[in-house]
Amino acid sequence: MRKLLPNKDMDNSVPAVFLDRDGTVCEEVGYLREEEKLSLISGSAQAIRMIIAQGWKPVIISNQSGIARKYMSVEDVDKINKKLQKMLADQNAPVEQIYYCPHHPKGYSPYNIECDCRKPASGLLLKAASEGNLNISQSIMIGDKYSDVQTAHRLNIPGILVQTGFGLREIEKYQNNWEKPPEYIAVDLLDAINWWFNHSQIDFITRVIC
Ligand SMILES: [Mg+2]
Ligand SMILES: [Zn+2]
Repeated sequence: MRKLLPNKDMDNSVPAVFLDRDGTVCEEVGYLREEEKLSLISGSAQAIRMIIAQGWKPVIISNQSGIARKYMSVEDVDKINKKLQKMLADQNAPVEQIYYCPHHPKGYSPYNIECDCRKPASGLLLKAASEGNLNISQSIMIGDKYSDVQTAHRLNIPGILVQTGFGLREIEKYQNNWEKPPEYIAVDLLDAINWWFNHSQIDFITRVIC
């Protein structure tokens, strides 16, 4: 008779690659509201296809304080997210889970709260994990702001910074005073994913040995 598998192996949760949206998957244009301004950063769809091919789950986690600031509505953001999902699905890179935080403490009511979902807070990642059966401790987060990296670090998972979007500005601002540096600084999302799946283990081992 076959032995029962240990609990660990019966857990069918999958790791996620949590992705920031603006400046990471699509071009940063500043409070994206108009569908015509939505465009994918080159290589994004390929990167997401690689994530899926590896058996990981791509999940977008976005701060959209433009809602609290009244630059746009919930409907605007939902419309952009739908279009983004369609663009990605059309390139065989479906992203089923997209979450965003509409809040900002200095915004307008009812969104002017200190929430637990605006990155670097981890509320949306936890929500995504429970709704999508994701294994948070095996996951990673990639974004163009240091707050994306901090989001990862608050959950004790690797955080990768990309140089697209606000990335270069963030590097200039934080490079001498990272609270904890990103595990990797990538040219773009595709480079980040290439590094994560093909080189990160070697790099980590090298760092331990040397
Ligand atoms: Mg961003
Ligand atoms: Zn929030």
